[in-house]
Amino acid sequence: MRAIGVDLGGHKIAAGRVNGETIEARLEERTEGSREPGAVIAQIARMARELGADREVPVGVCVPGGLDAQRERAMMITNFADWNGLPIRRMFEDAVGVPVTVENDANAYALGEGFAGAAKGISDYVVLTLGTGIGGGVVAGGRLLTGAHGMAGELGHMVLGQNEPCGPGCGGLGHFEALCGADALERRAKGMGLGASPVLKDLWLKRDSPEVAPLWELALNDVARGVATLIHVFDPQLVVIGGGLHKGAGFMELLTARVPRYLGEPFRRALNVRGSELDTDAPIFGGAACALAHP
Ligand SMILES: [Zn+2]
Repeated sequence: MRAIGVDLGGHKIAAGRVNGETIEARLEERTEGSREPGAVIAQIARMARELGADREVPVGVCVPGGLDAQRERAMMITNFADWNGLPIRRMFEDAVGVPVTVENDANAYALGEGFAGAAKGISDYVVLTLGTGIGGGVVAGGRLLTGAHGMAGELGHMVLGQNEPCGPGCGGLGHFEALCGADALERRAKGMGLGASPVLKDLWLKRDSPEVAPLWELALNDVARGVATLIHVFDPQLVVIGGGLHKGAGFMELLTARVPRYLGEPFRRALNVRGSELDTDAPIFGGAACALAHP
């Protein structure tokens, strides 16, 4: 069974033809500069056709933002303001000429890990991606949790803080992303006197120095609280951590060691946290998985 997964980002589009659990052909292009719906949809349709889209090879497109519960319309797509309200699934389908499904990219990431990655064969799991934004998805009983309005699984907007403002397009206070997104962590580092424009990667390398250690003490505990909260709410078999942060040497060990202190006793025994296996390929696999699930 083959399908094409397309990961639409503000700056680049990555697409791949998935065959079983491998990506057998890939394309990557800069996103059409205007980000105008017609132009970008035509670009994606051309890429999908180049990769061999046809009736037997359906297409799943992941978009960086919200969709309605039916996965037909764009609701709030970051960096693609002109798209809001458009029936993008049908527009993609008309442009490609084969069946197309659409999913939020963080949810697709989660589905990808279940299709061919760290959560393969697991029916109840949570994927948390720690990057500039914090996102993820929840799979319960083998199904992606989408909620009443299609907005479930916004893990980066769990309220774990106080009054820290969340980014544009959200506007809430104290959200996980406003505490532990890469930009937020760099802001916190700056506030702690760790340089005028601190870079997270460098700060991780210096994590044992007396100046930098307190930043990671706070951040790791914040992320651990987020993970513990997810475990309490969803009782998953597994939590998968993706995004840039988890690739830092030792990050997973230091994080996992901090989770039990925030867990209720019965949950500690079932603790199972792993790093993402697919990383940036996860949405491509997830897009393909969506396409195959909706013939
Ligand atoms: Zn938020």
